[in-house]
Amino acid sequence: MRLRNKPWAQERLDQYPQYVVPNPESYKGRWNEAFDRNQPLHIEVGTGKGRFITEMAKANPEINYIGIELYKSVLVTALDRLIEAELPNVKLLNINAADLQKYFAKNDVSRVYLNFSDPWPKKRHEKRRLTYKDFLKLYESIMVDEGEIHFKTDNQGLFEYSLISFSAYGLLLTYISLDLHNSDFTGNIMTEYEEKFSQQGNRIYRCEVKFRK
Ligand code: SAM
Repeated sequence: MRLRNKPWAQERLDQYPQYVVPNPESYKGRWNEAFDRNQPLHIEVGTGKGRFITEMAKANPEINYIGIELYKSVLVTALDRLIEAELPNVKLLNINAADLQKYFAKNDVSRVYLNFSDPWPKKRHEKRRLTYKDFLKLYESIMVDEGEIHFKTDNQGLFEYSLISFSAYGLLLTYISLDLHNSDFTGNIMTEYEEKFSQQGNRIYRCEVKFRK
């Protein structure tokens, strides 16, 4: 992804601690205290400009959401959306997903969303794919029993790789669509990348998997 340098981004993120959690490690094991209501927590890893997480939070007030994004220059756009939407059930974290265990404890999270994750097509970059086995282990270590991963992409190679990775890990496949926009799935919330790629005529793949007890 091409990133525009925004030297003011950190300052902007710092101005909104109610949305961008300043000391996320202090909530490890007690994320319910960061929100108005004690309810299940769903996280999106690689939240980008934040449309998905914002619209999900609007549509599902009975769930708490956290959008995780590595780049501040991208996260500021997600922050703008939250400021406008004024939602009590969504927060943003400017962290690397590889460090999830620093910020979340076992049973903190009940669902992980992965939307249009970077495909890292070269074999030597396999470990960077967010569906690589080490990431699955990381997600499992912060999730409730039978926690779920919901995954969408337009990249057939990454989708196939991920299905194999999920299966090798022992995850249970509970939903699959090889053409989401021409399926009977209802309530789909489009991400920024999903809109762009589907306008280009790309097919969208989607699956849901869950960890076994
Ligand atoms: N989910 C958004 C969408 O569908 O529009 C953005 C997709 S974009 C291709 C992938 C996003 O994941 C980028 O914003 C990138 O910075 C973020 N990302 C990639 N690896 C990450 C990591 N290890 N930790 C946190 N964010 C990451």
